[in-house]
Amino acid sequence: MTQLVNEQEQQEAVKTLERLISVQSYNQPAEDGAPFGRGIRNALDEMMKICDELGFKTYEDPDGYYGYAEVGEGEKVFGVICHLDTVPAGDLATWDHDPFKGTVVNNAIYGRGSQDDKGPGIAALYAVKALMDAGYHFNQRIRFIYGTDEEILWRGIAQYNKKESQIDIGISPDAEFPLIYAEKGLEQAYLVGPGTDKLHISLKNAFNAVPDKAVYDGPKQDEVKAALDRHNFKYTSDDKSITVIGKSVHAMLAPEGTNAVLRLAIALDEVFDFKPLDFFGKLFKEDATGTNVLGDVKDESGHLTFNISSLEINEKETRMQIDLRIPVTVDRDKLLDKLNENVAPYELKYAPFDYVAPLYVPKDSKLIQTLMEVYKDQTGDTTATPQISGGATFARTMHNCVAFGGMLPTTPDYMHQANEQWPLPDMFKAMEIFAQAIKKLCVD
Ligand SMILES: [Zn+2]
Repeated sequence: MTQLVNEQEQQEAVKTLERLISVQSYNQPAEDGAPFGRGIRNALDEMMKICDELGFKTYEDPDGYYGYAEVGEGEKVFGVICHLDTVPAGDLATWDHDPFKGTVVNNAIYGRGSQDDKGPGIAALYAVKALMDAGYHFNQRIRFIYGTDEEILWRGIAQYNKKESQIDIGISPDAEFPLIYAEKGLEQAYLVGPGTDKLHISLKNAFNAVPDKAVYDGPKQDEVKAALDRHNFKYTSDDKSITVIGKSVHAMLAPEGTNAVLRLAIALDEVFDFKPLDFFGKLFKEDATGTNVLGDVKDESGHLTFNISSLEINEKETRMQIDLRIPVTVDRDKLLDKLNENVAPYELKYAPFDYVAPLYVPKDSKLIQTLMEVYKDQTGDTTATPQISGGATFARTMHNCVAFGGMLPTTPDYMHQANEQWPLPDMFKAMEIFAQAIKKLCVD
C-alpha cells in the first residue's frame, strides 16, 4: 500500500499542533462569548483559522460553544469529532518543559493536549489535507466537529447537536486504536432520603472516582472503630476522628477499588439505628457491581458498575452520589425502576443529575469492518479486535460513530498527566491510518 501522508504534511501537522497547544484552553469562568472561559474560545478561534487556511469551509458558533470545518460535496456527512478543551496543567513543577508551548522534545510533541485531544484532532485534519493535496475527490462531506467542554459537562457538543444537522457516520479520535465500538451508558445521580439529628456526615467527592478516604468525627467513635475492626476495614485514628482508608480507582473500574465511604457507612450502620444506613449494611454491602441491588446486569460490553462516592447526612436529608456504568443493551428506564423499587425499603429515592447514552455500533457494520481492516493493514497487528470501554468519548453523542485512535496500544499514556507528549512516530502512524481509513470510506 502506498503511503498517503508525505513528510512535508507530517511536519506541517507538527507545526500546527505546536500552534494549537500554545493556546492554553482549560476550563475557566465564563465570559461574554466564551462560555468556558477566554482560553477555550481562543483555541476555537485558532482552530477555525487553521481550517480556513487549509481550505476547509468553517462555521463557528457565535456563542462560542462549538465550531466545524467541512470539505467535499454531497448529502451524506462523515464526521470527525474532536475537542479543543484540555484539563489544566496541574502542578507546573511536575513538568519538565512549558506545557503551553508545544515544543518537540526527544522526538515527541510535548504539551497539554498533545495526546488529549488536540494532537489526534490535528493528525486527522492533516490526514484529510493529504488526501486533498493528492487530488482525491470525496463522495460525501467530511466534517470536523470541535467540542469545547469535553473534560467537564459536554455542553459544547450538546449545543452542536441541538442546533446543527447530525452526521451519517463518523469517528472520534479521542481514545485508542484499534477502535471502541461499545461504551456503557453513564448515569450519574443521587439517592436521597430523610435526615436525622443523630449524626452528621459530609463526605463529598467527585462522581467518577472510588473514594480512598472517609473521615468520621461524630459521636460513638469507639463503637465505630469496633465495627470497622469486626470487618477488618483499614483505618487510622487520633483523639478527634477516624479516617477509613480505601483504594481509589476510576468509577468505571469500581469493583477493583476499595470504597472508604462505603466501608465507613457499613460500620456506622452497626452503631446507629437509621434506615438509610441499612442500605449499605444490609443491601449494597461492598459489591460495586451493584448485583445486590440490581441483580446480575451484564452483556458483551461487560458488567454494570455502581460507585457510591459521596455521602451526606444531616437534619434535613440523606444524600449520596452514585455513578452507574450501564451495559449497552440494558434498558435504562427498567433499570431505574428496579433501583427505585429496591432502595424504597431504606427510605431512599433516585434523583437524576446527568445521563450520557451508550455507544453501540455492531461489529459487522461496514464502518467497523473497514476501520479494523485498515488498522490491521497499517500496523500488522492482525489479532486486534474491536474494544469496549466503560469510559466516554464524544462518539456516543453522534449517530453511527465510534472512537478510533489516535493512541496506538503501545503509546505511553500521558493523558491528563504531567509531561503530556505524543511520540512523533506514533503521531505519523496515526495520520496514515486516518488517511487510509477516510480514503476507503469517503473516496470512490
Ligand atoms: Zn479527550
